Amino acid sequence: MSQVDAGDSLLGHVPDIGASLPTAHAAQVERLLARRSVFPHALLISGGMARDLARLADALAVGLLCDAPQADGTACGVCAACRLLAAGNHPDLLRLRPLEADEAAGRKASSQIRIEAVRQLIGTLALSPHHGRCRVCIIDPAEAMNSATANALLKVLEEPPAGNVLLLLSRRPMRLLPTLRSRCLPIRLIDESTMVKPGDGVEPEMVAFLRDADPDPVARAPWPAQRALVDALARGEGLGVPAASRISGLTLPAALAVLSRWTHDLARVKAGGVPRFLPFRAAELARVAALADLQGILHMGKRLAEWQRHADHPLIAPLTVADILLEYRAELFPSARTAA
Ligand SMILES: [Zn+2]
Repeated sequence: MSQVDAGDSLLGHVPDIGASLPTAHAAQVERLLARRSVFPHALLISGGMARDLARLADALAVGLLCDAPQADGTACGVCAACRLLAAGNHPDLLRLRPLEADEAAGRKASSQIRIEAVRQLIGTLALSPHHGRCRVCIIDPAEAMNSATANALLKVLEEPPAGNVLLLLSRRPMRLLPTLRSRCLPIRLIDESTMVKPGDGVEPEMVAFLRDADPDPVARAPWPAQRALVDALARGEGLGVPAASRISGLTLPAALAVLSRWTHDLARVKAGGVPRFLPFRAAELARVAALADLQGILHMGKRLAEWQRHADHPLIAPLTVADILLEYRAELFPSARTAA
C-alpha cells in the first residue's frame, strides 16, 4: 500500500459549531438525535446545498459525540468532548474528503477520494473509539468515491464495527452505487422555503402531518386519500405542497406505495406499454408521461423502492409526503419552475 498523504488525514476537522442552522434543519437534527438509541450505522444525507449538508452533518456529529447531551439531544458545548471538537482535536471525529490543493507541494485539488484514504479509514473503524463510545465519520461528498473506493467501503457498510456512525453526504445520491445507497438510511434535508406554515390556508392538523408523517406503518390508508394523491400526480408538474393537504389520511408507507405504483405505470406508458396498476387512469398517465423525463422516472422508481425498504424505521418517519413530492417533481420535470 502506498504511503498515506498528509492531506488525506482523517482527523483535524473543526465542526461548524457556531453557525446556526436554518430552523427546519435544526429541527431535523433534534429529531434524529432524539432517537440516538436507534441511530443507524450509516446515513445518506442528500438534498440542499453542499454547505447545508456539511453543517447538518457537523451538528449531528457534535450531538452524537458530546459526553453530556442536553435533553433535546444536542451538544452541551462545555464537556471534554465538546471542547475537543471545538479545537478540531476530537480523535473520534473523522472526515473523508478529496485532497485539497497544496501549493507548497505543487499539488492541485482532486475531485476524487483516494483509495489509500478509504483503506486508512477502514483500519481506523476497526479500532474502538478513543474518547467515548461512539465514532463519527463524515464522507463529503460521497460521490467523490469512484467504484473502486466505494466498493472498498461496502464491506464496512455491510458489517460495521460497533460504535461507528458513517454520515455520507451527497447532492446527487442517484450517482452513487446502488449497493452503497441501499446500505444507508436515506435522509433528505427539508427545504424550509417549501414548508407549510400555519396561516397558509392549511388546517393545523395538516401542518402537523406534513412535518411528522404518521409513524404507524400498518395503519390502513383510506381510499379517498389515495385517490387524492393520484389526482395530484395526474395534474403533472403543477403538483406541490397544497396538493398534499388533500392526502392527510395517508401514512408515509401508504403514500410511498401509491407513488411507486404511479411511477411504475408512468415508466411503462413512457416506454409504449400499458399501465399495470392504474389502467383506469391511462389517459392521464399518457399525458404526464409525455411531459416527464424518462431518466427521472426511472431514478424516482429506485428512490421510492429505497424509501419503502426503510419506511418503518423511526428515523424515516419525519420524511414527509411533501418532501417526496418535491423530489418527484425535480426528477420528472427538471426544467419546471422549482418554487412551490
Ligand atoms: Zn458536550
